[in-house]
Amino acid sequence: MAETLNAARKQELEEKVYAGERLTRADGIDLYASDDLTWLGRLAHHRRTERTDDRVMFNVNRHLNLTNVCSASCAYCSFQRKPGEKAAYTMRVEEAVAKAVEMRDAQLTELHIVNGLHPTLPWKYYPRVLRELKAALPDVSLKAFTATEVHWFEKISGLSADEIIDELMDAGLESLTGGGAEIFDWEVRAHIVDHDTHWEDWSRIHRVAHAKGMRTPATMLYGHIEEPRHRVDHVLQLRELQDDTGGFVVFIPLRYQHDFVDAADGVIRNKLQARTTMASPAESLKTFAVSRLLFDNVPHVKCFWVMHGLSVSQLSLNFGVDDLDGSVVEYKITHDADAYGTPNTMTRDDLLHLIWDAGFRPVERNTRYEVVREYDPAPSLAERRAEPQHVWT
Ligand code: SF4
Repeated sequence: MAETLNAARKQELEEKVYAGERLTRADGIDLYASDDLTWLGRLAHHRRTERTDDRVMFNVNRHLNLTNVCSASCAYCSFQRKPGEKAAYTMRVEEAVAKAVEMRDAQLTELHIVNGLHPTLPWKYYPRVLRELKAALPDVSLKAFTATEVHWFEKISGLSADEIIDELMDAGLESLTGGGAEIFDWEVRAHIVDHDTHWEDWSRIHRVAHAKGMRTPATMLYGHIEEPRHRVDHVLQLRELQDDTGGFVVFIPLRYQHDFVDAADGVIRNKLQARTTMASPAESLKTFAVSRLLFDNVPHVKCFWVMHGLSVSQLSLNFGVDDLDGSVVEYKITHDADAYGTPNTMTRDDLLHLIWDAGFRPVERNTRYEVVREYDPAPSLAERRAEPQHVWT
């Protein structure tokens, strides 16, 4: 365990941040060793406000999981089911479209689609679903498939990632999702990941997407068995790739989750659960801050409120975060239930109030991070408190 930083080292790091210098691996590891959360937040907030002022971006989306049947059994995953298992499901194309249409309302701008690695579904199913979704919801952007899924499509189709992404884009794909990254360190990965998409293929597939002009997210699953140095290395690998392609638009630290309840069959599927705890709020805020400071060439850092709860999400805006994941209905992969009272759904109004209440200016964006609508700065505290604060319904 690293020691808490001494004053001289803190000053050195602070000077580097304020001079806009790129931070090193040793800097990142030392930042994680600090327990001075307000100091870390101040540094990250400085870097974040240089880029995005007091703006907090959000979009209004819904999540759709076409199938939870998966050939892999990643240790942390409570979503996957095996064929024939209770609660295993796979949507027919018409069912997926009906579900998406059911979720549509005037606010919706994006569908976020991730799935298990289904052992028998043919490759053609996936572009067909996208095509039908696009026909039914022409104004809604389709953000779909992790690099792990694209690697899977390569195996089941015999096509290259280049050909696969071309066909998916032709069918309406606007962006890949950022998942499947977990932690790139091989020794950690060997304990938590059961598919064979690692850094080499994950980065290769995002490179292909970036070369086609696609801007993609990148994620990091933290708070399980990894150490801070693994988080630092993960971010630095992505930073180096970003130096080459410039295609990452946002970095999303995802908080590892325990299974709290499995309503369908009472089974705890998370195989790490007995030997892990979840990251505390302080550790999450530290992770946001250090990520913002290290990943100096990515435009945005996002907090996915479903995994962090509303309190940490709101605080994260002072720890380098400038993007909140939008309204989510029936989010399944990690949120079958949780013990923190996190709601399943928020509307645009809920998000606006959450952002205003923290003193920031909400900006609604689309999947490409283009501004859809700017909102006024936060009303004065007196105005905000004139009526009870409404957070969610
Ligand atoms: S994380 Fe993805 S690939 Fe791994 S078991 Fe779950 S659904 Fe399958």
